[in-house]
Amino acid sequence: MSCLFIDYWSLIIIALGLFLGSFANVLIYRLPKGESILLPGSYCPNCRKSIRWYDNVPVFSYILLKGKCRDCKTAISLQYPVFELLTALSLVIIWFRFNYPMYLFIGYALFVFWLIVISGIDFNHRIIPDELSMSLIVIGLLFSPFNLNLGENAGTRVLTSVIGGISGPLLFYIISYAGSKVFKKEALGGGDIKLVAGIGVFLGWYVLIISVFLGSLIGTIVSLILILLKKKSFGDYLPYGPFLSLGAFLALIFL
Ligand SMILES: [Zn+2]
Repeated sequence: MSCLFIDYWSLIIIALGLFLGSFANVLIYRLPKGESILLPGSYCPNCRKSIRWYDNVPVFSYILLKGKCRDCKTAISLQYPVFELLTALSLVIIWFRFNYPMYLFIGYALFVFWLIVISGIDFNHRIIPDELSMSLIVIGLLFSPFNLNLGENAGTRVLTSVIGGISGPLLFYIISYAGSKVFKKEALGGGDIKLVAGIGVFLGWYVLIISVFLGSLIGTIVSLILILLKKKSFGDYLPYGPFLSLGAFLALIFL
């Protein structure tokens, strides 16, 4: 019976994840341009025709339309279905890891949703909008009394969260300072520092340190692979937000 219960809920979470992923695409595409996120409805960036509701079903429409706009036949970015699937997958993993109590799932689902939108914008535009990192910090602090992973009682949880929010940027300033001495240039942006504060308030200071380490390690490995494939050269800029986010997600799931 409990197994059936989980299957039933998983389907709901997958559907929710696909539609949240579709909304993440709207945020990723429109926030950096300063466009309204509610109106107008989805439209083709090329011919600007409105997308019909039946062509706007996450993932499925992309497959049915063979990745092309129905009106002008321009290729639709593969990013759309990828972010929809990524959001659904992340949410299902969060659900299996933290499905009880429900508010724990909701708190972490919001965290992961924010990380996905931030990663998408950083990947495309190499910026992390302040409204996203700042709201992540606020949500993390509001969630902290209920964040069961941060301590025995509400008081300790809030304290662990606040220390996480402060120690992240502090750690980054130290790395940044050391990096500027070694590489003679600015290693990290202000957007990354605010993001790491947001991750800190959700994870607490000890998990945060591991998550930053994981994110940096994965970022370094990916950079080296790109250099070996001659897609990048030493000193090229690689957005750090997606790697920090991935590190945070892995630390959240495995610790
Ligand atoms: Zn079009």
